[in-house]
Amino acid sequence: MLIVHKYGGTSVGSLERIENVATRVAKAKNEGNDIVVVVSAMSGETNKLVEYANHFSATPAKREMDMLLSSGERVTASLLAIALQERGVDAIALTGRQAGIVTDNNHTYARIDSIDPTAMQEEISAGKVVIVAGFQGINESGAVTTLGRGGSDLSAVAVAGALNADACEIYSDVDGIYTTDPRIEPKAKKMDFISYDEMLELASLGAKVLQNRSVELAKKLNVKMIAKSSFSDAEGTVIGEETEDMEAVLVSGIALDRNQARVTIREVSDKPGIAAEIFSKLAEENVNVDMIIQNASADGTTNLGFTVPASEVDQAKAVIEAFDHDIGGMDLDDSVCKVSVVGVGMKSHAGVAATAFCALAKDNINIEMISTSEIKVSMIVAEKYAELAVRTLHSSYNLDK
Ligand code: ADP
Ligand code: ASP
Ligand code: MG
Repeated sequence: MLIVHKYGGTSVGSLERIENVATRVAKAKNEGNDIVVVVSAMSGETNKLVEYANHFSATPAKREMDMLLSSGERVTASLLAIALQERGVDAIALTGRQAGIVTDNNHTYARIDSIDPTAMQEEISAGKVVIVAGFQGINESGAVTTLGRGGSDLSAVAVAGALNADACEIYSDVDGIYTTDPRIEPKAKKMDFISYDEMLELASLGAKVLQNRSVELAKKLNVKMIAKSSFSDAEGTVIGEETEDMEAVLVSGIALDRNQARVTIREVSDKPGIAAEIFSKLAEENVNVDMIIQNASADGTTNLGFTVPASEVDQAKAVIEAFDHDIGGMDLDDSVCKVSVVGVGMKSHAGVAATAFCALAKDNINIEMISTSEIKVSMIVAEKYAELAVRTLHSSYNLDK
């Protein structure tokens, strides 16, 4: 079997933990498998590098950020190769470029365009464990690019796809995908299986256990992902194609995204074209607008509210401040969060949203905004209620039973 292992920041967070990874990799190799390992930077390293850059500039050039941030993963990859070699396991560390990973030009959030697996295949054929520095590639002009935070998951899936691996095992500090973040709700239950679509929703809605783009790519390439712990031998959770009987499960999980801000534009003229103009300007500035709410008009004006990622609130503010007609003023609130209920079973069942609203009402949690899709219900609530809301929703669908 050819298996890709991916070890996240916590799993390689100290020299002892890298040693522990070396032990696990050596064991898998000695069982007769071909192993390719994708590693993250040691935990905290990427944030530290960002802080270093911000010491010199609040807006460092993205190209240089990629040069800087990609170094964290290279440290881990080479240390792991050295640790493996020391115990007699033949291993070689590769940068993203050496592994053949080519991306587009979008520095700090690049997409993988192609992978030429030849170099990796040659090393595998020579009997080596191939260790790839995650989170990075190069663009067509040869500059280093990175794939967005949490991007080593994406590297791992892409490498597994390019090598046609039998599985892509993602190792972190939790032993699988739970019905909600077990750090928030200790009663959360581990799932044996979750569909790509549900995992993609959970990840996109804030469950950072897997990077959302990696799940999207796994679905596209039909890569079998397994979420496991690097600290135990527990069975993990398989992420794969939805099966017929899955619609029986109404709700599979609750996600929390704290990284949200709410913008309200007051006294917006109630006439055609204003919303079009405001949201076009926001789009031009790459502000990702999520939920939108517009009140019924009174006196010919209305209030227009929407949410953006907290990191984009300054850009949103600048756009609205520069808007010189047909609006009264603006309020910003970054002390909100988004809680979401996800499940493919919602497609065929009524009442899922009502259960969520009743549960939050029972705990006196005000819902500020709502959005729904075929397999999710998302609600904006005050940040101070984040954990309570997650636990309340979790128990209202009996996910703790
Ligand atoms: P790594 O650094 O290895 O990439 P992450 O920190 O990105 O690991 O992801 C693991 C964390 O994801 C866990 O510690 C857990 O708190 C969090 N998490 C959030 N939602 C879930 C969930 N539904 N199931 C499991 N873990 C979750
Ligand atoms: N080191 C990068 C980050 O912290 C990528 C990763 O760990 O997946 O976001
Ligand atoms: Mg991660």
